[in-house]
Amino acid sequence: MGRFRDRLTRFMYGRYGVDQLNRFLMGIVMISLVLSLFVPGRVFYWITVLGILLSYFRMFSKNIRSRSQENNKYLQATAGIRRSFSRMKSRSRDKSHCYFKCPSCRQTVRVPKGKGKICITCPKCGGEFVKRT
Ligand SMILES: [Zn+2]
Repeated sequence: MGRFRDRLTRFMYGRYGVDQLNRFLMGIVMISLVLSLFVPGRVFYWITVLGILLSYFRMFSKNIRSRSQENNKYLQATAGIRRSFSRMKSRSRDKSHCYFKCPSCRQTVRVPKGKGKICITCPKCGGEFVKRT
């Protein structure tokens, strides 16, 4: 086992490895693998094969600069989506507050839960609106 690890370490030396883009590709592979079992036709089968090839190519690539450029592009392109996902996550974890959008300026306002019907003053524009918490 130790020998295998040595060999693997030597093999991976100077190679790119796994990044966020590769994790995303692996996610697509898993989803299309499941879909290929249920959806007739070869579309998801080929997406699975291509996804595996692409993620292995990137993982074992020695062109580290190009791979990290790809990863940066991926991160830039998905920054908005990932930010709103993490916002959604932290909001669903926040059981003691409600989140409302101010009707006049779209600012999100966080208020404590369980206060009944309250008048909320927007901290940004000073506008008031009534919500049930
Ligand atoms: Zn406002």
